[in-house]
Amino acid sequence: MKKLLFAMLALALVIGLAACGSSESSGEAGDSSLPSQLIIATGGTSGVYYPLGGGIAQIISDNTNVSATAQTTGGSVENMRLLGSKEVELAFVQNDIAYYADNGELMFDGSQVNNLQGMATLYNETVQIVLPENSDITSVSELEGRRVSVGAPGSGVEANARQVLEVFGLTFDDLDSQHLAFGDSVSSIQDGALDAAFVTAGAPTAAVTELSATRGVKLLSIEADKIAELIEMYPFYVEDTIPADTYPGVGETTTVAVKAMLAVSSDLPEDFVYEATKALFDNKDQLVAINQRATSIAPENALEGLSIDLHPGALKFFEEAGIK
Ligand code: GLU
Repeated sequence: MKKLLFAMLALALVIGLAACGSSESSGEAGDSSLPSQLIIATGGTSGVYYPLGGGIAQIISDNTNVSATAQTTGGSVENMRLLGSKEVELAFVQNDIAYYADNGELMFDGSQVNNLQGMATLYNETVQIVLPENSDITSVSELEGRRVSVGAPGSGVEANARQVLEVFGLTFDDLDSQHLAFGDSVSSIQDGALDAAFVTAGAPTAAVTELSATRGVKLLSIEADKIAELIEMYPFYVEDTIPADTYPGVGETTTVAVKAMLAVSSDLPEDFVYEATKALFDNKDQLVAINQRATSIAPENALEGLSIDLHPGALKFFEEAGIK
């Protein structure tokens, strides 16, 4: 009997402590306190997200009272999952993938991300289908049966590859598909171990430029009727032309693009996101020094292609700047 009483007292104590603890921690979350260290989810080390993410982390650390670091990841899809599970506070993401995450569609069916808000759209990311210079492939339809990298696990690239193949009546099962990050795709093409690679990133992409200097590179155009069909099915795509000599010796290429954007957790305080958004645009030169793609980062372009709601801090910045 004594033992039982003791056990009941102990239990009551534990419950009391737990209740106390949870009310304290929910109090902290309620005033959306700012962590002292923020993480920005980016992409693979051979992409554009990762180096630009390093630059943005520096800008945030220099201009706000928190320090930020860039984390390498598989890309857009993984970044949305990391934001949703609150492992990161900021993330690079393609506008199409952000939309799917926010609305619980496609790869986010049943795993909708509920704390996702936008900060700004940044630059065009081009769907580049990269071939070795001596390739005999002339259309996406000829990728059937070939060794093709469809992007890293958790990348936005993988979604784009799936959708582009779909309009040609192909699935990953019709290819010898491999899930490689840009750097590994390029070294496999270089070694003759891969026939093609999908790369969705700002062009020129360093990994592709590197391939053009070693093995030589070709880009595959997508036929106009297939582009129209793709945009009809998945409206985040826009037609995009890669100008001749973006990569040495490569002619003009017609393909599609999506937008890179910065997403934030809705848990972040308004003041902080306002300051970070302002600092991003005020210090854009630092980003241009890292990658030419950053030239298009500007308040007047930053709501174009935005596929999710803005964070109130970002909204305040754009309202002040007179941008609708
Ligand atoms: N857009 C790519 C993705 O989400 C990443 C591009 C990059 O790393 O620059 O998979």
